[in-house]
Amino acid sequence: MKEFLSVLRRFVPPYKKYLIASVAFNILSAVLNVFSFALIIPILQILFKLQEPVDILLPWSWDNLTEVAGNNLNYFVSRLIESHGASTTLLLLGLFLAFMTLLKTGGYFLSSATMIPIRTGVVRDIRVQLYNKLLSLPMGFFSEERKGDIIARMSGDVNEIENSIMSSLDMLFKNPILIIVYFGTLIGISWQLTLFTILVLPLMGWFMGVVGKMLKRKSLMAQALWSDLMAQLEETLGGLRIIKAFVAEGKMSERFLSKNNEYRNTINKVNTRQQMAHPMSEFLGTVLIVIVLWFGGSLILSGAGGITAPSFIFYLTILYSIINPLKDFSKAGYNIPKGLASMERVDKILQAENTMKEATHPISVGPQLKEQIELKNVWFRYDNQWVLQNINLIIPRGKTIALVGQSGSGKSTLADLIPRYHDVQEGEVLIDGVNVRDTSLRNLRSMMGNVNQEAILFNDTFFNNIAFGVENATREQVVEAAKIANAHEFIMATENGYDTMIGDRGGKLSGGQRQRISIARAILKNPPILILDEATSALDTESERMVQDALDKLMRERTTIAIAHRLSTIRHADEICVLHEGKIVERGRHEELLALNGHYKHLCDMQQVG
Ligand code: ADP
Ligand code: MG
Repeated sequence: MKEFLSVLRRFVPPYKKYLIASVAFNILSAVLNVFSFALIIPILQILFKLQEPVDILLPWSWDNLTEVAGNNLNYFVSRLIESHGASTTLLLLGLFLAFMTLLKTGGYFLSSATMIPIRTGVVRDIRVQLYNKLLSLPMGFFSEERKGDIIARMSGDVNEIENSIMSSLDMLFKNPILIIVYFGTLIGISWQLTLFTILVLPLMGWFMGVVGKMLKRKSLMAQALWSDLMAQLEETLGGLRIIKAFVAEGKMSERFLSKNNEYRNTINKVNTRQQMAHPMSEFLGTVLIVIVLWFGGSLILSGAGGITAPSFIFYLTILYSIINPLKDFSKAGYNIPKGLASMERVDKILQAENTMKEATHPISVGPQLKEQIELKNVWFRYDNQWVLQNINLIIPRGKTIALVGQSGSGKSTLADLIPRYHDVQEGEVLIDGVNVRDTSLRNLRSMMGNVNQEAILFNDTFFNNIAFGVENATREQVVEAAKIANAHEFIMATENGYDTMIGDRGGKLSGGQRQRISIARAILKNPPILILDEATSALDTESERMVQDALDKLMRERTTIAIAHRLSTIRHADEICVLHEGKIVERGRHEELLALNGHYKHLCDMQQVG
């Protein structure tokens, strides 16, 4: 209960005014409901000829309000019967009942309608918060949490929360109002009978609560399985090429089926329990009515209790009206635990601590590199094993430093430390003598341009992909960058030129074309520092030539860290560092390293670079 109140406190306050309107309409519709049903009394009295004509209009007073109201209503009805006859009076009463009911249902509609903006607003806010949080979390977070899982939390769990928030709003702001108004009426009609009813009701509530207990655990399980399913889907979409190449469709399908079945079984249990709520409360409701009917009936038959048969029927109608809000309580009893389970999962992301702390008083660096980048005694690990050990490296302004080494030796990791995608455990990364921790991420990353092995493009036009990192880029600037990157020709050859959509992740382009777009993007950003991580490794020789040419133009005048798989591309670097198992084992120029006859020579021999 406390948990879910705190959820409400977090998300509902912006929508207070809707909540207030809804509460007002609820009160209105509850009161109208009572009055419309009260008309049953005179109707029954006319039908069964139970009421003597009333000739005196009593003055209004608070002490015996119900009595006066009843008397005066009867007075008017008596006058009506006198002037128009009993059956016309019945018709008029019926029409009045219909009119009151129209108002009541109208109020009911408005109260539900004002809830809708709350519901949609809360869900939107949670989604936006989640998305922004994902943008702000460091890269390290995502290697642990799978993408499919995040998507599941964003969709399925947020929907669960929506349902449960709505249930809980009903529970807090609608049902209590209805119940209070109806109970007030019941007491007004006959407090003796109501006393008896109150003794029976809690029993019912307890019964309903029992079933809801296990729901939260089961529904957590179901959501976790849903995450697994989404993760598999994600993986499959990304790996379709390989799945088809290895003719593994059957295997994948089986794997999916078995997870799917597991999910189904769990959700079966959750839903079955949930379906029990409705029939059970209906049954219990009827039992309640029967018990009260028996007790009240005995009172009337024995002439005690001061209640007439028509009032008793009215009493039962109102009692029956109470059952719905009570039933909704039990529905909330199911939905809220489910929603809380989902909220917990969403909070795993929302409350994830951002381990990458921004400096409180950032020292500004850039926009140009003045002196050098320096890695000083840097040690880094992702989990237990050191990936980089005691790295010392100086990259002077305007020079090109190459990192080579076997795959897994830590090259990409080292390059990631400079834009501070990860924080080092020991040592320092310095830009012009300023620790990257002491400057703002924005400042720092604005100085760098990246070109990676896999060009990362978005499902947008060529223009927007190239202009991605630069605000208000003009057409001329974009075209200029594309020309330098050898991308202009093939862009112009497409249907709409720069306004052509490139497809999901640039799926319509060849590897070399994608790479040239990402180079054009880097050219346009014009950063002083360039990080090239195997920029040409995934390309064939022909497109590598084009891309390398574009890269050479990009690297001119810039400080560059180049990671290369093909050693031929970095032989002119100012310094080449050979990484082996996280350590720099050799460093120097191409010829010097060859002369050492060590790791570098070995790598070159394997690639037959002379
Ligand atoms: P390279 O780029 O030289 O091929 P990497 O820097 O990518 O090497 O990886 C160095 C080591 O760090 C490898 O053993 C790799 O398994 C590990 N590694 C890389 N990225 C992560 C990560 N996000 N989480 C855990 N370990 C990682
Ligand atoms: Mg790498």
